[in-house]
Amino acid sequence: MYIAEIKNRDIANGPGVRVSVFVSGCRHKCPGCFNEIAWDFDFGKEYTKETEEYVLTELAPYYMRGLTVLGGEPFEPENQAGVLALIKRVRAEQPNRDVWVYSGFTLDELTGESRARTEYTDELLSLIDVLVDGRFIFAEKDITLRFRGSRNQRLLDLPKTLASGKPVLWDE
Ligand code: SF4
Repeated sequence: MYIAEIKNRDIANGPGVRVSVFVSGCRHKCPGCFNEIAWDFDFGKEYTKETEEYVLTELAPYYMRGLTVLGGEPFEPENQAGVLALIKRVRAEQPNRDVWVYSGFTLDELTGESRARTEYTDELLSLIDVLVDGRFIFAEKDITLRFRGSRNQRLLDLPKTLASGKPVLWDE
């Protein structure tokens, strides 16, 4: 897995102050994508144990709220093992931080039959607090939306959604 960028004090991709990790590689190719440079799976730097240590260190200050993983596409099959390793470490060592993940796949695609399904997908979903799902659709773009780019995208409270079997939207 390659990392396009890490923002260590991000306030745009989830509540509070966050570490945001932009993974490389995305096949959705949404017209109007905010981060086209990260479609390339080899863009940026290789994800290593040092990357992981850096993220953990940056998440440690008391005022940090959580980790956001976006891209690129965190659920591209090539990225899932790396994203899972990172989130597992955050869960183990920073249990008070929340975890948000952005995906161009819908939750139905991630849980149903789609090219996103791998041996890691279900465990990954079980560790996420909020999933922002769905492709960016330019015709539904709305700059007044909080933490998402187009109206079709949802901020899903994932534990409640998975437990109830129906979409439960995140509500701070
Ligand atoms: S899913 Fe995200 S990164 Fe991929 S093309 Fe769409 S907006 Fe861009």
